[in-house]
Amino acid sequence: MVEGQATDADVVVVGAGPTGLMLATELRLRGVTTIVVDRLTQRSEFGKALNLQPRTAEVLDLRGLLTAAQDRAEGGIPGSHFTVAFLPYTSLDTRYPYQMVLPQAQLEAVLEQRFLELGGELRRGWTVDDVQQDENTVTVHGPDTLTARYVAACDGGRSSIRKLLGVDFPGTAATEYFTMADIRLSPGAKELPQLTEQQRERRSMRRLRRAEPDGSTANLLPYAEPGLYRILYSDHRTTRDEVTRQQIVDGLHRFYGDDYQLQDVLYAGRFGDASRQVEHYRTGRVFLAGDAAHIHFPAGGQGLNLGVQDAFNLGWKLAAVITGTMAETLLDTYHAERHPVGAQVLENTRAQNTLRIQDANHEALRRVLERLLQTPEANQAMAETTSGLAISYGGEAPVGTRLRDFESGGSWASTAFHTGHGVLLARKPQYLEQAQPWASRVVGLHVDNLPLPGCDALLVRPDGHICAAVPHDDLTTALSTWFGAPDTTA
Ligand SMILES: Cc1cc2nc3c(=O)[nH]c(=O)nc-3n(C[C@H](O)[C@H](O)[C@H](O)COP(=O)(O)OP(=O)(O)OC[C@H]3O[C@@H](n4cnc5c(N)ncnc54)[C@H](O)[C@@H]3O)c2cc1C
Repeated sequence: MVEGQATDADVVVVGAGPTGLMLATELRLRGVTTIVVDRLTQRSEFGKALNLQPRTAEVLDLRGLLTAAQDRAEGGIPGSHFTVAFLPYTSLDTRYPYQMVLPQAQLEAVLEQRFLELGGELRRGWTVDDVQQDENTVTVHGPDTLTARYVAACDGGRSSIRKLLGVDFPGTAATEYFTMADIRLSPGAKELPQLTEQQRERRSMRRLRRAEPDGSTANLLPYAEPGLYRILYSDHRTTRDEVTRQQIVDGLHRFYGDDYQLQDVLYAGRFGDASRQVEHYRTGRVFLAGDAAHIHFPAGGQGLNLGVQDAFNLGWKLAAVITGTMAETLLDTYHAERHPVGAQVLENTRAQNTLRIQDANHEALRRVLERLLQTPEANQAMAETTSGLAISYGGEAPVGTRLRDFESGGSWASTAFHTGHGVLLARKPQYLEQAQPWASRVVGLHVDNLPLPGCDALLVRPDGHICAAVPHDDLTTALSTWFGAPDTTA
């Protein structure tokens, strides 16, 4: 609490989407008082993202949340796409070389349950309509007022907080709106794909794709529940008007034929190809994360993943500053590390959006790229980028890269991260002794092997990124840099 000033919580998180809930869970894991507010009175069960990229699966695994997510998954896709090119994930260096098909609402349910189990407070039906901040606190106004030391704006692409603070959102406006709906279809159509239990187990999912000469495309994906589908299609619409039932019927018949009979529309909306990113992820005591900080054309299924990983990067840092173990300067690394990752996703999705243009020049570009992406090196590099596994936070590799999970003594290294602490994996006991004064913040683990040759020990941040490779890097310096001063009593 701020001396002399009453606050309702250390942090108010605005938005109970995947970004807000991931951040709130990370804060509660470290005992930070956190209130999440969301304008929705209940979680929306349909719409939006449908996939987890491999790195996001690893992130959930680092907190022991992956099994709960897998239990709710609807299957898997053994790779991704960069427009014309398939990017197989099978050769990626991860335990999860596929995209998990997990409806966004299911991920939110997993995160919300963990947040509440950790003693967090969630207020639904709570819309923020004003925000003010001074040197020590920030106050959000809604049905009542909440004052905190920090606010996290995780309130989506049309973020109220961003607008209320007058933060610019530079980039390009939407040129086209696409239609998306979660629908129930009558059985009987010839090619109607069904998701079988076997496909679910094999992590394979069949989608029915259609493309027309004018560049219009459609995708029909089955949910696990028989008869339930997601349809996505483009029909060169330039306004974000309401979707009518008749438009969906027309879209279905146009792309798939008249024997596709619509029963129900459970959700319908439009999304555009706007591409924008705030210039700075922090404004005073307010942090922007997820779609509130960046929006883009949803090619390759990267948006939700980007937001969850923003939250995973910010959570432990904000907690370390609030609990007094680290100086405020640690928070600068949130923008420094995550802004370039967001910019790269914007670049990738802009390129994919451009490649949709139907003319001779773009056709030539598509063909050249297709050939290029058939070369193993280029294909692998693009797959590593889209999967999130290539993300590195600077330094000389392996510093900055993620720790690839590995087994030692019959258990996976990832389990050591469940408490949310940093982890020191050491082959030589002397390094564990050296790290003893940081034992309250760093779990020391003796291992018989390390995935990097020539390393005696690896110091890893709570978000799974390596911050020292010993003996190349000095362990004490890295411990102080990332975890603060040693405990005097240890
Ligand atoms: C059609 C479509 C398909 C997509 N497919 C994929 C995909 O396959 N893979 C992928 O990774 N991404 C995908 N995305 C992107 C993904 O859905 C978003 O990136 C993700 O939802 C961002 O999460 P978020 O938590 O940042 O924001 P949101 O999910 O938008 O959550 C924001 C929350 O804030 C709340 N809120 C808003 N304003 C206020 C306020 N003033 N006061 C209180 N609460 C407020 C909202 O109710 C909401 O719950 C897709 C997006 C679209 C549109």
